[in-house]
Amino acid sequence: MKYFSTRGNVAGVGFIDAVLMGLADDGGLLLPEQIPHLTEADLARWSKLDYKALAHEIFSIYVDGDISPEDLTELIEQSYSTFRDPAVTPVRKLSDEAYVLELFHGPTFAFKDIALQFLGNLYSYISRKRNSIINILGATSGDTGASAIEGVRGKEGIRICILHPHQKVSRVQELQMTTVDDANVLNLAVKGNFDDCQQLIKELFADVEFKTKHHLRAINSINFARILAQTVYYFYAYFQVAAQHADAKINFSVPTGNFGDIFAGYLAKRMGLPIHKLILATNENNILERFVKEGAYQLGEFRMTHSPSMDIQIASNFERYLFYLHNGDAAQVERLMRQFKAEGQITIGSEQLTQVQTDFAAHGVSNDECLGTIRQTHETTGYLLDPHTACGIAAAKTHSGSGEITVTLATAHPAKFDESIQLAQIEQTFPAEISALFDKPQHQTIVDHSKEAVVEHIVKLYQA
Ligand SMILES: *Cc1c(COP(=O)(O)O)cnc(C)c1O
Repeated sequence: MKYFSTRGNVAGVGFIDAVLMGLADDGGLLLPEQIPHLTEADLARWSKLDYKALAHEIFSIYVDGDISPEDLTELIEQSYSTFRDPAVTPVRKLSDEAYVLELFHGPTFAFKDIALQFLGNLYSYISRKRNSIINILGATSGDTGASAIEGVRGKEGIRICILHPHQKVSRVQELQMTTVDDANVLNLAVKGNFDDCQQLIKELFADVEFKTKHHLRAINSINFARILAQTVYYFYAYFQVAAQHADAKINFSVPTGNFGDIFAGYLAKRMGLPIHKLILATNENNILERFVKEGAYQLGEFRMTHSPSMDIQIASNFERYLFYLHNGDAAQVERLMRQFKAEGQITIGSEQLTQVQTDFAAHGVSNDECLGTIRQTHETTGYLLDPHTACGIAAAKTHSGSGEITVTLATAHPAKFDESIQLAQIEQTFPAEISALFDKPQHQTIVDHSKEAVVEHIVKLYQA
């Protein structure tokens, strides 16, 4: 399997090189040359596998010989044995029509661990195998940073710098990142919002000379390895639910920010998993909801919400979908992305809008609806949703047809977002791992929103 860029000027890249490249050298995003289509027999066989065995099947297709089967087994074992639940991503029933897929049993209590435990181990493996320097640079709205740091802290041959928006992440997210004292970790708290952080990173990665000189590696969901790791739980959850409800129409509702997680669902569907609807849930930063409903991808005003990990205007994975929407016309994608950069908007034709609405349903959840959903679900079922998952549940309620079953992705543990849970007037008890964070010293550097300031700090780390 080779990888190519959505903008058409990079092609024939193997899996490991695609992981190392992150953002494609022409500014586009990497995609696999073929998406395999599974037969019913494949699906039937996969439905009997446990999480790790299923991950091995799926990864093998896309890794395609770049990692030996034995090494892949070892990487998967290392990555998922750190999870607190033996099922890795268990499915819980809230009612006959509503399930949650719990993705928060990894070390940092958010779904990012599923991809980043794997990517951290993969980088370590690549560093050993290829003697390659790994200097990770990433931006985070909170969860990616904590998870990526946890994935590589203390690992030889790897350094990591994470930018987060200063004082715009939750207290627990900040502590998870900044209480790590390993010398290979640098936290930069940028005076700005997440989009500012992401923009800085994108600029640095787009400067191919700088990127090559400093061996910059990406952990953001522009990295295809992350998308790949996230397709596994769609299959896994689908099989669990389908086993209990033969012939049911099964939807997934996905709390979305960067379009990464929902793109993984889209990929699973294109591989032949018979997902009925993919429901895209946003918060008040609803650029993607407006795109699905109106066909215009247009920057709105940045808002702080109760679900900060989804406080994103520019969805960095959107370009991957745009490529498929335009039937693989890379020149058109390039033109549209240039237009978006210049004018802050893209509009698509009515035929394409019909396709978008076949692929996705969407709902933007207001702050009040988010808190109301947390309260109501807690009252009626006793289950405590985190505010991101609550957006997913609210969207599921809006779009589930009668007789359909909707699996909502539970993307974080509520303890990570106690500020919002308190606003819903619910008291929660923290897991011991989270309580322990409050006593540890913090390590972070506050910097201005400027490329020069960021460069100065990362160069120091990467040359250490
Ligand atoms: C990152 C994140 C999301 C959004 O995921 P995307 O892949 O960016 O769409 C949703 N919920 C939580 C808790 C997150 O950390």
